[in-house]
Amino acid sequence: MFLPDLKLERPGLEEVHSQVLQNVVDRLDKSFQAFFRRCKTGEKPGFPRFRGMYRYNSFCYPQSGFTIIGKTVKLSKIGSIRIKMHRSFEGKLKTCTLRRSPTGEWDISLSCEVEAKLLSPNEKVVGIDVGIENFAVLSSGQEISNPRFFKNGQKALAKALKKLSKAEKGTKERRKRGKVAAKIHEHIRNCRKDFCHKESRKIIDQYQYICIEDLDVKKMIEGSHFAKSIVDASWNQFRQFLTYKAEEAGRKLGLVNPAYTTQTCSQCKHREVKKLSEREHSCSQCGYRVTRDFNAAQNILALGLDGLGAIPRSLRL
Ligand SMILES: [Zn+2]
Repeated sequence: MFLPDLKLERPGLEEVHSQVLQNVVDRLDKSFQAFFRRCKTGEKPGFPRFRGMYRYNSFCYPQSGFTIIGKTVKLSKIGSIRIKMHRSFEGKLKTCTLRRSPTGEWDISLSCEVEAKLLSPNEKVVGIDVGIENFAVLSSGQEISNPRFFKNGQKALAKALKKLSKAEKGTKERRKRGKVAAKIHEHIRNCRKDFCHKESRKIIDQYQYICIEDLDVKKMIEGSHFAKSIVDASWNQFRQFLTYKAEEAGRKLGLVNPAYTTQTCSQCKHREVKKLSEREHSCSQCGYRVTRDFNAAQNILALGLDGLGAIPRSLRL
């Protein structure tokens, strides 16, 4: 509503597509709403910060102002740009977002509206425990190992950051090393995304009822010695992908309160405190012995199905 006045004051704004400007205002509004929400709930408020040209890294055409013709995208008020398409799109184009990566390259993401692809329902159920030794353990006994980039990426990043810290500020060398570190970051991010897409896809394709812990991964990691940001971010992304893919496919997601899922015996429900280093579940009451994460996955499955109130026919007694 203030945009017309702002445009009079700063004629430069006329050179930006109107909806892109509008989108900036929407983003600002969202930031402030989140800020006030955090104030109310007593979290650390974090006042929205000013974003100068080096901090403002993306902009969005929310409806129109862009067209794709062959291998070029035509952006209103900017012009035609050649692009490298990673895959073709289907459905109706909705938004176009341009993002500057930390390495200085530009990515375009197009969002399209497509019909939901429901998978034919089945009766298979699974509980998933995310962990340290393995990326995840399923109640079926299947283990998803930690991908190699967890370790290698961490190492490469640590090395690059150490080099970066040794270069003097403001020098050409420093900028160069900063770019190297940013490239590694970007690479890890891509690996992580790819990995999470593939693993969540496999689970969604297979199971109708999928039970996972409803946990704030960040809090859990902060309190442990495994404060590895890559692992942390991967779990978060894995859960996000599971959630939206389940919705798209018509699968059911059961969220479980994480309290006691490792301490409770999945067979007799006896509860015993375990140290983080104890990798085995060995019940003093009923003698049930399995790995710690497998026991947890079984608990997660039982609790998740309870919460869904939908016990598949195959499990009914
Ligand atoms: Zn037991």
